[in-house]
Amino acid sequence: MKPNSERKPSIAIIGAGMTGILICIELQKLGIEDVTIFEKKEELGGTWRENTYPGVACDIPAHMYTYSFEPNPEWKYRFARGNEIFDYFKKVSDKYNVTGKIRFGEAITSCEYDRSKWHLKTSKGQSYVADFVVSATGILHHPAKPNIPGLESFKGISFHTAEWNHKVDLKGKRIGVIGTGSTAAQVIPEMVKTGSEVFVFQRTPQWIVNVPDKNYSEKDRESWRKNPSLAKRLHKWYTIAVEETFSKAVIGKKIPHMLMSFLCKRNLRKSVKDPVLRKKLTPNYRVGCKRVVVNSTFYDAIQKPNAHLVTDGIERITPAGVETKDGKVYDLDILILATGFHPFNFMRPMNLVGKNGTKIDEVWGKKIQAYRSMFIPGFPNFILMLGPNTPIGNFSVIAMSEVQTKYLMGMIKDWMANKFDEIDATQEAFKNFNLYLKQGMGKTVWLGGCNSWYLDSDGDPAMWPYTWKQWEKEMKTPDYRDFSLTKV
Ligand SMILES: Cc1cc2nc3c(=O)[nH]c(=O)nc-3n(C[C@H](O)[C@H](O)[C@H](O)COP(=O)(O)OP(=O)(O)OC[C@H]3O[C@@H](n4cnc5c(N)ncnc54)[C@H](O)[C@@H]3O)c2cc1C
Repeated sequence: MKPNSERKPSIAIIGAGMTGILICIELQKLGIEDVTIFEKKEELGGTWRENTYPGVACDIPAHMYTYSFEPNPEWKYRFARGNEIFDYFKKVSDKYNVTGKIRFGEAITSCEYDRSKWHLKTSKGQSYVADFVVSATGILHHPAKPNIPGLESFKGISFHTAEWNHKVDLKGKRIGVIGTGSTAAQVIPEMVKTGSEVFVFQRTPQWIVNVPDKNYSEKDRESWRKNPSLAKRLHKWYTIAVEETFSKAVIGKKIPHMLMSFLCKRNLRKSVKDPVLRKKLTPNYRVGCKRVVVNSTFYDAIQKPNAHLVTDGIERITPAGVETKDGKVYDLDILILATGFHPFNFMRPMNLVGKNGTKIDEVWGKKIQAYRSMFIPGFPNFILMLGPNTPIGNFSVIAMSEVQTKYLMGMIKDWMANKFDEIDATQEAFKNFNLYLKQGMGKTVWLGGCNSWYLDSDGDPAMWPYTWKQWEKEMKTPDYRDFSLTKV
């Protein structure tokens, strides 16, 4: 047998967004060069390539939304704009020799497991064989279009926020926006600046916390360039601040939740003077039940004379615009769908076939679950990044990918040390882990009387119900008692 250090796996990564880039960097740090990233589009960047709508920005502080090993002294705003974030990932990808490993314009259409190898097929008809497959296909990647009768009949221009049509001139137009979530709160103020009249069709009001934006000066950036540890310190500081407030509030910790509730309610009270409008904007569920919107411009925008909040419910879309349940018709030139994403699609649609011909849709037909959010029994050596019950919410998704990547690297090192060829989570571990999650949900706010994208089809939150610290601790190293390890 070759010395341990010479055994290196071949690894296929699906998706060249923030997560795929990160994994490729970490694999190269282990000396693994046989890494290929398949990216279905012609450019990297995932979320930040797709979402180019006016106002697109991070809603957690930029210094927190960076890889921990790569502080960015160039941030221009506290809440980085989408194009800055895209540039950051592109720069990091070039710097760490990731870009050369990406096969652009090649979607993975099929992944089949056979005798300790994954056999992949791409949209270009190519085949590829790998020891491991890492699915880094993102969570907010498949735009969700609303199921409203007549949507297709609209004669004006309509598009989803993630598919923004930049050829359309919005100036002086009558614009309708469906949705009031985080994206809508960013896009509506921009529409109000540009359109003649803007109609916001609200199904459910949102709790909004105002964390003011900040324009960083050249002097700030100069100091971070000279002393990167200052930017690293900000990363740490923001991470702790968000963990102690948002993250603890949503899992039901009393004082952080009281603080968040107070801040959201005060924001609404102070920002919206008209009691009728304020009532329409007041949610009837607990703060945090839906993802808290972090925004400092929406309330101001919705009070402008050309902005109109419509709460009567949409009956249908007509060729001319939107008809509400009270029979009113809103004539529109442009209809924007700020209606979010399908968060439970993950790697699908893909022909994913594990051991003994098991298909992913059979396993996930009833419920979408995983062991430690990353492993599906029967799909050995297949790693799902940011899978169900990752601590998604008002926290940095980069931090989540970093924790999962570190966990995975521990496993890869053990594979390199010849401890196993095939690793598969056991059914028992899968069952126990999901039971453990369910036991923690009762205290959280996600079951606080709202319908949100956090909930699966059974109404169970696909979230992590314990603290971030607890998650980090449990994700430190793989517990091999929960896996079946095989030498082939
Ligand atoms: C509008 C918006 C704002 C957000 N704001 C924040 C924020 O403020 N803070 C935060 O932490 N998170 C935020 N997020 C979440 C964001 O998605 C993550 O932070 C992060 O970008 C996810 O990176 P990813 O690489 O896991 O997935 P993605 O960025 O979605 O990348 C997945 C990649 O996989 C590719 N792909 C998918 N399927 C295939 C296939 N079959 N074959 C080949 N390639 C494939 C896609 O083309 C894409 O490039 C936001 C998301 C959205 C949509």
